[in-house]
Amino acid sequence: MERIIFATGNEDKLREIRAILADLGMPVVSMKEAGIQAEIEENGTSFEENAVIKAKTVMELTGELVMADDSGLQIDYLDGAPGIYSSRFMGEDTSYDVKNAAILEKLSGVPDEKRTARFACAIACAFPDGRILTSYGTMEGRIGCEIKGENGFGYDPIFYLPEYGCTSAEISPEKKNELSHRGKALRGMKEKLETLLVKS
Ligand code: IMP
Repeated sequence: MERIIFATGNEDKLREIRAILADLGMPVVSMKEAGIQAEIEENGTSFEENAVIKAKTVMELTGELVMADDSGLQIDYLDGAPGIYSSRFMGEDTSYDVKNAAILEKLSGVPDEKRTARFACAIACAFPDGRILTSYGTMEGRIGCEIKGENGFGYDPIFYLPEYGCTSAEISPEKKNELSHRGKALRGMKEKLETLLVKS
């Protein structure tokens, strides 16, 4: 296996993913770099199901090793929403300033202890021989009371990390990789792949 195709078109995610998988010694290419164009319907009922759907679809198109993720924000006060609908929440084309402001509005007046939330991420790897590996990670925090910070993307500016006294948009990219749901899931996947590569 010479390379990993990561089934995403999101450059922010790719940056995080490449940094974490760097020492695996296998280049990570995007679908675009691999010359693949595919509209994949994410019709699973969990992050894990959606990650497997994406990885399998692209593996079947290319015959290569494909990794995919599915992630999102679960807000306890909103019964886990937006969850697997995080990127589709209020429409894909709506800016995150608008989405984040709408969430703050929904939680207006809700006390700190009821503002608990987490980012969750599932990673799936689909091998050309049909094998599937999955891995899962979360980052716990709570919904802040204002939009703060310029780093990260998506819901980071409203995701408050109590231990750090700031949002995940205010920590460095290196710190975010260390703490994040995606970082944890990717490191879990990296370990599984390393074990497989040693055995084969
Ligand atoms: P996916 O591309 O289908 O996995 O959708 C993930 C969506 O969840 C993103 O578009 C963001 O809205 C949100 N999300 C996932 N991870 C993060 C993160 O690390 N920071 C901020 N938002 C995130």
